[in-house]
Amino acid sequence: MTVPLLDLKAQWAAIREEVMAAIEPTLQSAQYVMGPPVKQLEEELAGYCGAQHAIGCASGSDALVLALMALGVGPGDEVIVPAFTFFATAGAVSRVGATPAFADNDPQTFNLLPSEIERLASPRTKAVIPVDLFGQAADMDAILEAAVRHGLAVIEDAAQSIGARYKGRRIGEIGADVIILSFFPSKNLGCLGDGGMCLANDGDLAERMRVLRVHGAKPKYHHRVIGMNSRLDSLQAAALSAKLKHLDDWHEGRRRNAAYYDQTLAGVPGVKTPAIPPDCWSVYNQYTIRIAGGRRDAVMQGLRERGIGCEVYYPIPLHLQECYAHLGGKPGDLPNAEQNAGEVLSIPVYAELTEDQGAEVVAAIRELCPTIQARS
Ligand SMILES: *Cc1c(COP(=O)(O)O)cnc(C)c1O
Repeated sequence: MTVPLLDLKAQWAAIREEVMAAIEPTLQSAQYVMGPPVKQLEEELAGYCGAQHAIGCASGSDALVLALMALGVGPGDEVIVPAFTFFATAGAVSRVGATPAFADNDPQTFNLLPSEIERLASPRTKAVIPVDLFGQAADMDAILEAAVRHGLAVIEDAAQSIGARYKGRRIGEIGADVIILSFFPSKNLGCLGDGGMCLANDGDLAERMRVLRVHGAKPKYHHRVIGMNSRLDSLQAAALSAKLKHLDDWHEGRRRNAAYYDQTLAGVPGVKTPAIPPDCWSVYNQYTIRIAGGRRDAVMQGLRERGIGCEVYYPIPLHLQECYAHLGGKPGDLPNAEQNAGEVLSIPVYAELTEDQGAEVVAAIRELCPTIQARS
């Protein structure tokens, strides 16, 4: 039996008719960019996430750039970002000409350590971008409190956490200035290509992002500011609206699989299952275990030899990336991020995973992990 890390073909087989029916009128209408389905999706997702405003755009990465531009972040400014995240979080900061200041994370939850804001905040710091890594909200109340103390804007990178809850609140109502979503196919709500969205509760800020996504023009051909071309395709929006109806079921499927792994992997030597604080409701974009004793890569290889998909998200913390060498980051600077990068392994948790497939993953990890104990 092979078990892919993610099975988008199984998802497509289940929803093919609905998505085809949803996109057909858009193809007929020939209004391919920013048509009525975009506005409809914006309303649906604002409601789903508990935010006042939603602005569709071309990708999650662009959503971060639009948010930074709308908040006036630019050259000379610093933005605090976690080092243990997908590259886009920091790349967006650089794209607006600002400088990322890399923060360490909680080694258990993988999310930004609020105390790092105290350590890194300087008079040049303008914003902080906490990431809800792997589907679980960051420690937002502590982050928001520190941000207020230092006068920082907060952009919540919720690319992996649509639908997550934090202390009973949805991601659009926790308190960040802008919340960004990604519809990259591997996210919990993925489109048929690239897509993204900014959520906000402040009307002026939302309006700035709306204008920035169309070259800063309002009305058309009257450019108030220099923006970008970052629109959402009508086709993607129509497909996303159709898929949104299934999102809660998919979350439940992921959570069911995660609970199964939590139970069955709990006692496996050298393996740590994800730590989710009791007030967080994760949507498990990834189920990420930690394998101690320097044996992670051997386990990864063993799983792959058995036909089981797995991946290291993310192998190199951002302060050690080549493109940021000029910022002077060195090994040892951010010990939690570096240790997590050496130990994490994400295993299949998608909703369509069958019981047999899940059992196969667990059996393989059990088989591969006694060696860890013997060596460490
Ligand atoms: C996927 C992702 C992004 C970027 O989204 P794209 O739509 O791929 O540009 C940003 N941040 C995080 C944490 C992500 O996982």
